[in-house]
Amino acid sequence: MKLSWCSIISMLTILLLTGCEQVATPDVPSALASVSPAASLDPTFATKPVDTGVLPANNTSASNPIKEPVGFEVGSPKEEPVVTDEKKQTKKSALKPIYSVGKGQVAITIDDGPTKYTEELLKVLKEQNIHVTFFFIGQNAAAFPQSVTQAVYEGHEVGYHSDTHPHMSQMTYDAQENEFNSGLNKLIKFDKHPVTLFRPPYGAYNNDTKLLTEEHQMQMVLWNEDPKDWATTDPSKIVKSVLSQVQSGSIIVMHDHPSTIAALPDIIKGIRKKGYTLVTVPY
Ligand SMILES: [Zn+2]
Repeated sequence: MKLSWCSIISMLTILLLTGCEQVATPDVPSALASVSPAASLDPTFATKPVDTGVLPANNTSASNPIKEPVGFEVGSPKEEPVVTDEKKQTKKSALKPIYSVGKGQVAITIDDGPTKYTEELLKVLKEQNIHVTFFFIGQNAAAFPQSVTQAVYEGHEVGYHSDTHPHMSQMTYDAQENEFNSGLNKLIKFDKHPVTLFRPPYGAYNNDTKLLTEEHQMQMVLWNEDPKDWATTDPSKIVKSVLSQVQSGSIIVMHDHPSTIAALPDIIKGIRKKGYTLVTVPY
């Protein structure tokens, strides 16, 4: 009997130790794994980048359903009611969000970067001799600083897209202010020019978001063409979607991920063939 209890205790100890080992072995986030070893040792790079999207699987059968995209600019941009915050009172913002560019012009905008794919994206843009408007997320800028530096250096317009990609219209003024400032502080150090363009995640904003944008002397930039590039991994579908909608004044919202990057050369050629001039969003 005494021996049996010993055996049981020994077995339990082994089980516990094995369990602890499993818990103590962290998974390396794939996005961080692509940061250089030197950068990963630097505590300022400890911020985990925001993974704003889960791409749907190609297989759409019931046994493998499409995952809801999380974070991409899903839906149309619109102003929403203010979340009650007794401390702040309702000064009405006169800010007019930008939804379009000029006659004969088209602007390609790329949201949610930088990511581990941005380097490749910048290469494609250089090959096509085009400048785009990026809307970078603060935490991602901290995780992939080299890509922000390169985007600025190569003449792209760099706008701001929050720190962590929340629904700002569902937050109080104070919470929005904290979100606004924390990410902007990570982004402004990359450019000697001030960051003047802001795009609220999901295009969801309210009067408080507009007030904050004004206070930071920025413009709010939304869009009027959404090819839903997050909804497919097939670049040819993205090309078709963009070119079937594009018109004079289009601001096209797209995202920093591989299928969009693969689609961009044909998108750029197609827009030029239609006679439009590709521009960055003016400010
Ligand atoms: Zn976004």
